[in-house]
Amino acid sequence: MEEKRQAFFLAATALLDWWKDAARPLPWRTSRTLYSTVVSEFMLQQTRVAMAIPYFHRWMERLPTLSAAAAAEPSTILLLWSGLGYYARARNLHHLCQVLASLPTIPVEPAVWQRFPGVGPYTATAILSLAGLMDAIPLDGNGLRILARLVAAQGSFANRSALERSLRPMADLLRIPGRCGAVGEALMDLGSSICLPAKPRCEICPIRPWCQLAGRPKEMPAPLPIRPRRREIIHRVWICDGAVLWLQRPMSGRLRHVFELPEIPSTAINRRSNSVLLQGMRTIGSVIYREIIYDGQNWPTMDQWQAVAIPELNSIPISGPHRRWIRTILERESELSPKN
Ligand code: SF4
Repeated sequence: MEEKRQAFFLAATALLDWWKDAARPLPWRTSRTLYSTVVSEFMLQQTRVAMAIPYFHRWMERLPTLSAAAAAEPSTILLLWSGLGYYARARNLHHLCQVLASLPTIPVEPAVWQRFPGVGPYTATAILSLAGLMDAIPLDGNGLRILARLVAAQGSFANRSALERSLRPMADLLRIPGRCGAVGEALMDLGSSICLPAKPRCEICPIRPWCQLAGRPKEMPAPLPIRPRRREIIHRVWICDGAVLWLQRPMSGRLRHVFELPEIPSTAINRRSNSVLLQGMRTIGSVIYREIIYDGQNWPTMDQWQAVAIPELNSIPISGPHRRWIRTILERESELSPKN
């Protein structure tokens, strides 16, 4: 066991040496605080790094401190999140900022953090470790893959939690007191540049001497099972007179308070012969939606729909796909308008 501990310590040291020059210059790393760590970890829960970066900049410009975020209006939070999807994250982040701002001291126990909405075991460990409040290695997907390869983990795993449970003892061997967050981030960067999922670049890997799979370009661990996806069609209408556009804003559900084009029942479409302006696809959770947008000229509006002035569209929270589709249709209409 002592030999193994020594080997992992040397691997962690080599990893940190490599990372000194190879660390990605991510904005939440440049002046790290607990607050910037919380914001970035929530954004990264279901979003790729490259996509999260501009949202992080925008968020921090508008809400530079925990107390500013805690005091923000829910509509501001949703507007800053608009386009990132999975809006429950934004609501949970807002709630967490309010809770943290009201506490006399910041809790340092993962179990306490896991009681906050939107904070699971990974997020709790990542926030506390990256903010320097706990000595544990956060293991994201990259970290899990690297560890599985380091020790040539056998077997298939039902889900991410099962994989993490089996690899956690190995991650603990990589701990360097006071540097655990850095080791976690170095693993993330190694996994995104060298220990890639399909074609690991073992020839330039800094931890190659300690890796049981070095030079065997085989995908490991076996991919986690993919959940089957359902398909659904949603019908929507475009009602716009050039000055205002009609939108709907659900008061409950996943997209509550986020504007989208109004949804109509398919039976209503069959009764009228409206032309299709645009069809778009998006995936939410395990459902793939095909959304069909019909020209709603002369369509009766509903009480729960709202007319929004076109210049106001940028200042209200609209879901990402709908913002894109609205922009596309508006551009098309302006090209077709008689002025042009
Ligand atoms: S030696 Fe290869 S498989 Fe092992 S950690 Fe490095 S890149 Fe990944």
